[in-house]
Amino acid sequence: MHTPPPPPADEARIATALADPQRLAALHATGLLDTPAEESFDRLTRLAAKLTGAPVTFVSLLDAERDFYKSAYGFGEPLASARELHGRTFCHYSLVSDGALVLDDVTQLPVFRDVPTVKSLGIRAYAGIPLRTEQGDMLGSFCAVDFKPKRWTEQDIEVLVELAHCAMREVRLRKALQDAEALNQQLVAQIQRVDELNLRLSEMANTDALTGLNNRRMFDHSLQLELAIVERRKTPLSLLMLDVDHFKQINDNHGHEVGDTVLVAIAQVLGGCARVIDIVARVGGEEFAVILPNTDTEGALEVAERMRTAVGQATWLAQPATISIGVATLQPAEDASGFYSRADAALYAAKAAGRNRVELAPAGGSA
Ligand code: GH3
Ligand code: MG
Ligand code: MG
Repeated sequence: MHTPPPPPADEARIATALADPQRLAALHATGLLDTPAEESFDRLTRLAAKLTGAPVTFVSLLDAERDFYKSAYGFGEPLASARELHGRTFCHYSLVSDGALVLDDVTQLPVFRDVPTVKSLGIRAYAGIPLRTEQGDMLGSFCAVDFKPKRWTEQDIEVLVELAHCAMREVRLRKALQDAEALNQQLVAQIQRVDELNLRLSEMANTDALTGLNNRRMFDHSLQLELAIVERRKTPLSLLMLDVDHFKQINDNHGHEVGDTVLVAIAQVLGGCARVIDIVARVGGEEFAVILPNTDTEGALEVAERMRTAVGQATWLAQPATISIGVATLQPAEDASGFYSRADAALYAAKAAGRNRVELAPAGGSA
């Protein structure tokens, strides 16, 4: 090229441009700093060397304190591995040049002669095309250098300008991919939140708000499920119906709120007496039910007695309370409603017999 070299920029302008926060933000947003070499960029520097005849071509990104080479063709070691350089470089002058910085022989001007890479790398000719974002922020440059003076032709510079455009397209593509990935992650996080909410909603739909036990809905569902299991596995199944004795008096004498705390406490006692596989539910105001999978009459009576005693002895209840319990063990061919009715009838019998007791439903009939 026959254009004379541009007047050397002063150090202050370079320092300001290098440290410009907006420029640095744009550079960091590319996500390219310290990333490994990529064929999409290497292809461009290789082509630049082939078309211009320059032995070394590179894509330099100008970080605040160092130049990072996203792609470098023809670099010797240790630069080829390190891919970064500290100290003043020609790219810094291209940073403050209006357009391409084209130097046929860097030794012609003292300011360029003193650039460290002239000595350290033996650079004699330099051509750098700014890599600028659409917002005008300068990220770095697309460069070619030679170790001897070189007459850069107009075609050389055109080639470098075209390839610099291609490099910027790669940068934008990378950014778009990153943004898409970030959006995708946001979407995944949102879906997870919705899943959690759904889980919580379904828990709420199955849980009694006062006691935290299973509610009536969950009880009905579980009973159907257990009946289906019994049909296949022929295991025994028992059911307890429990009702707090004279609960109305607790409410009447101490208020509804105290009544509530007694219900919560009784729920805890019942839960503490049950196994993990047992299903403890609040099925009415002060009525509870316990499904005992894989449990015969003898086992069910034991659990019922344990629960009755535990409630009666729970001195920490806001008010002392007792419970009556009806016990039933599933009969062959019995359905859920027949099973439930028999346990409920046994509970009624326990009430009739004086309360604070356990009654067993006779097989095949009402108690
Ligand atoms: P029994 O020994 O015959 O079962 O007598 P009881 O007083 O327990 O029976 P009754 O069915 O007459 O009274 C039940 C009471 O339970 C009446 C109702 O106000 C009260 N109750 C129902 N649900 C709740 C609740 O969620 N909280 C409170 N505090 N009381 C409730
Ligand atoms: Mg009651
Ligand atoms: Mg009742």
